Amino acid sequence: SPSAGGPAVPPRVLSIAGTDPTGGAGIQADLKAIAACGGYGMAVVTALVAQNTRGVRSVHVPPTSFLREQLDAVGEDVAIDAVKTGMLFDAEIIAEVSDFLERTRPPIVVMDPVMVATSGDRLLRPEAEQGMRELLERVDLVTPNVPELAVLLDEAPARGWEELIGQAQRLAAASGTLVLAKGGHLTEDAVQDALVDADGVRRVVSSPRLSGATTHGTGCSLSAAMATLRVRHGGWERALEEAKPWLAGAIAEGEHLDVGGGTGPVSH
Ligand code: PLP
Repeated sequence: SPSAGGPAVPPRVLSIAGTDPTGGAGIQADLKAIAACGGYGMAVVTALVAQNTRGVRSVHVPPTSFLREQLDAVGEDVAIDAVKTGMLFDAEIIAEVSDFLERTRPPIVVMDPVMVATSGDRLLRPEAEQGMRELLERVDLVTPNVPELAVLLDEAPARGWEELIGQAQRLAAASGTLVLAKGGHLTEDAVQDALVDADGVRRVVSSPRLSGATTHGTGCSLSAAMATLRVRHGGWERALEEAKPWLAGAIAEGEHLDVGGGTGPVSH
């Protein structure tokens, strides 16, 4: 085997998500994050999104049968170490991805429950929210931001850190899934994220809140980094301890990019 005595084989990480032609979010961000974290990135496209740093213009969804063909083409050829899901858009896509996860049982599944872009454009049809809740059954780690966690629980969004942790614990207990609760939408000076299971908080990491933030694609990038680093390090805590400072650096470095007139992308 190539790993015997030599360098470890990079984890094979499959992103199942939508596109961002400006490269800042979605599948393009995932591939850059996976590479930056030492993985080998693969990508199955759920939806083609005509968007830029300012907003979404339109969404094109290929036939579900073609989504299945993409998934099978990868799954029948490559041993997948981890899957990361992003924009799933509608109930048909969610059902197809759920089937794929059931058929192939990848060792690690991270779900970024993408619902609404920073620009306010919807990336998940409202009638598909229940499908996202049911998909949690096939997921090891879910990475909701404040509004997404509220939707998954069908509660009002948390207004503070303690409330956020309580919600994450309720979701973990109800779904059996580890939750990475992300505090970026709260107003605290530092941005805290916590790994939470049904028993409570397992690890909290913090980074300074940067002003003038280049944050387009942060959620996508963090979940892809978590999937990759979980395979490399064998534990969620270590994955988070490496992913969080890496993402903070990528947000800071985004200041040196000159990409578009809207919310700028992170620099991978
Ligand atoms: N576009 C796609 C295809 C995404 O998957 C995501 C991720 O959540 C976004 C856009 C969101 O971008 P933003 O970070 O600007 O909210």
